[in-house]
Amino acid sequence: MEKRSVDDFVVVENIKLNNSNFLIRMLAPKPLPIIKPGQFVNVEISNCSEIFLRRPFSVFDVDYTNNQLSIIVKILGRGSGKLSRVKKGDLISLVYPLGKGFTYPDKLDKILFIGGGSGVAPMLFLAKDCGLPMNNIDLILGARTADEHINVSDYTKYGKFHFTTDDGTLGFKGVVTEHPVIKNDLSEYDKIYACGPLPMMKAVASDAVKNDIFCEVSLENSMACGFGVCLCCI
Ligand SMILES: Cc1cc2nc3c(=O)[nH]c(=O)nc-3n(C[C@H](O)[C@H](O)[C@H](O)COP(=O)(O)OP(=O)(O)OC[C@H]3O[C@@H](n4cnc5c(N)ncnc54)[C@H](O)[C@@H]3O)c2cc1C
Repeated sequence: MEKRSVDDFVVVENIKLNNSNFLIRMLAPKPLPIIKPGQFVNVEISNCSEIFLRRPFSVFDVDYTNNQLSIIVKILGRGSGKLSRVKKGDLISLVYPLGKGFTYPDKLDKILFIGGGSGVAPMLFLAKDCGLPMNNIDLILGARTADEHINVSDYTKYGKFHFTTDDGTLGFKGVVTEHPVIKNDLSEYDKIYACGPLPMMKAVASDAVKNDIFCEVSLENSMACGFGVCLCCI
């Protein structure tokens, strides 16, 4: 079984990406283990006695040279709201790495990555990390409105991006699973990877089955412990 650690990380920077998303980069106190896209960390919301349980956040990026790990936090409730206000030098306790992570595609695969809401972070990490040429990767990223999409200009070298918004303010109007790339023809793809709300992943998995395409979705759930012992995630 993979070794997990509990450590205090030092906040290196907290970048406001838009009104609801923050990128928090943290320095690890010891060399980081290999962390795969799709794995997550369980974050303690410090100095907040009413928030007892740690909050899970997908790993967005790992910089082994500088021993830093990043997450993207979307403000949803009190825990993520408090986390979005951390400052450089603050300490954050993480349990890491958790979850299984996605399997890596083969080197000639044509891939479709689908990310909805906070599921965008692991899809961008996988697109960057999988080592495929950009022509082999399409990404469909969905959010409620244009303001909730993060700027992906640093990632356009990893694949071709398609956006959806519920209100039509960016890209295709509708949910990701209605995007023409999915509705028209999936047969060009060897593999599909998805992370986002459960109904989205169910629809993606069902389309993949219909088209006989390998598909992986992130079924990690909210849980108290982060590794299955408390049985909340069952
Ligand atoms: C494996 C995993 C990875 C995640 N990765 C990310 C990530 O990379 N970035 C990110 O911003 N968020 C991510 N999340 C979601 C994040 O954990 C929650 O947004 C956070 O725990 C909410 O805490 P809170 O105290 O702010 O809100 P709470 O006060 O706990 O909840 C506020 C409201 O949001 C609802 N809610 C809480 N958690 C979720 C959830 N997971 N899905 C849907 N509704 C929820 C609650 O029912 C409540 O109505 C991930 C969740 C899981 C399970």
